[in-house]
Amino acid sequence: LSTTQLTELRACFPALHQNINCNQLIYLDNAATTQKPLAVLEAMDHFYRTDNANVHRAAHTLSARATTAFEAARERVRRFLNAASSDEIVWTRGTTEAINLVAASWGGSQLRAGDEILLSTLEHHANIVPWQLLAARTGAVIRVIPLTAAGTLDIAAGLALIGPRTRMLAISQVSNALGVINPLGELLAAARHVGALTLVDGAQAVGHLPVDVQALGCDFYTFSGHKVYGPTGIGVLYGRRDVLEGMPPWQGGGEMIRHVSFAGSTWNRIPLRFEAGTPPIAEAIGLAAALEFIATLPVGWREHEARLRDRLLAGLAALPFVEVLAPTAERVGVVSLRLGDIHPQDAGELLDQMGIASRVGHHCAMPLMQALGVEGTLRLSLALYNTEQEVDAVLAALARLPDFF
Ligand code: PMP
Repeated sequence: LSTTQLTELRACFPALHQNINCNQLIYLDNAATTQKPLAVLEAMDHFYRTDNANVHRAAHTLSARATTAFEAARERVRRFLNAASSDEIVWTRGTTEAINLVAASWGGSQLRAGDEILLSTLEHHANIVPWQLLAARTGAVIRVIPLTAAGTLDIAAGLALIGPRTRMLAISQVSNALGVINPLGELLAAARHVGALTLVDGAQAVGHLPVDVQALGCDFYTFSGHKVYGPTGIGVLYGRRDVLEGMPPWQGGGEMIRHVSFAGSTWNRIPLRFEAGTPPIAEAIGLAAALEFIATLPVGWREHEARLRDRLLAGLAALPFVEVLAPTAERVGVVSLRLGDIHPQDAGELLDQMGIASRVGHHCAMPLMQALGVEGTLRLSLALYNTEQEVDAVLAALARLPDFF
């Protein structure tokens, strides 16, 4: 990206332009949530100002407009994921709800005692705890793919864990705590080979990598709108048509039924079967605007992010008290740091005094922290609107940390 392009791009994100503790904000907590472009804010504002109505049921014009925009948003997501049909796109509140939906509906109806669910050490709690709840209910057993000494997935060990009892492989495409891109091809193929289903947690991938669920060959794919420049409160479960069609509802209410009587009820077609109640309409429209925004970015934005990542890693390597976790792994623009004797919390607070937003703690990945033998880390996560100056500023701020502690 040229300097002009980057300036124009940053102008699309109002929240970036403010002072925090008397310093220009440097937002490096993008893995937690991204800032929102005007296109998203305006799409949601426009919906509420002009088209606001409930979807799918009413006979009036506003409702027709709201329904058209809402279903167009679903189609926008289908294109983003390259799903075969928009019937395979289920709206959820986010990644967490999407995984809970699969665990409750598919898992609750399919799993028996002794069936195995395969996860990995570096999963977010959202891709651990729903499976634990399911295992407690069904007697299914959770197995965990370990890490190599380099802090990456041990693929060979993972392949060895896939067997006739494996029913589900649920795994993240990109680790939120480390930024590492997991090579999933062999694992997904091996799971398919034994007849297991596969769920890919794409929460940290969608903001950085092009996604193609058909090329990936997964049965389910999940992500959250707010990590890809869209609003909170909206996420997506992609499910392959034949798998979704075989799944029972998980929440009951309006929208998800075909017919209700006290003698019994019947269920709507997919995806509405999984969307009980009034959906997050404005949020879906906002997410579609975010995906359109990304699709129309100047070419070279991914290279811009990669250059920032490399600049950050090079600068960090020159700081003797800083240790990057999984330093050699292929990664997106997310790094997790150990800072010698300096507690991440103290470092994070000091950075905030300088206007720099970072993340500290276990990053909702306590088992990963346990495996790495750390209590927590300082995480810096980049987005397309970050700049070389910002990277240099955070490196300079980190270099000063030992003077304070
Ligand atoms: N999985 C991963 C890899 C994540 O990074 C996150 C969000 N930190 C989640 C799941 C959960 O997403 P949400 O909180 O939006 O439901």
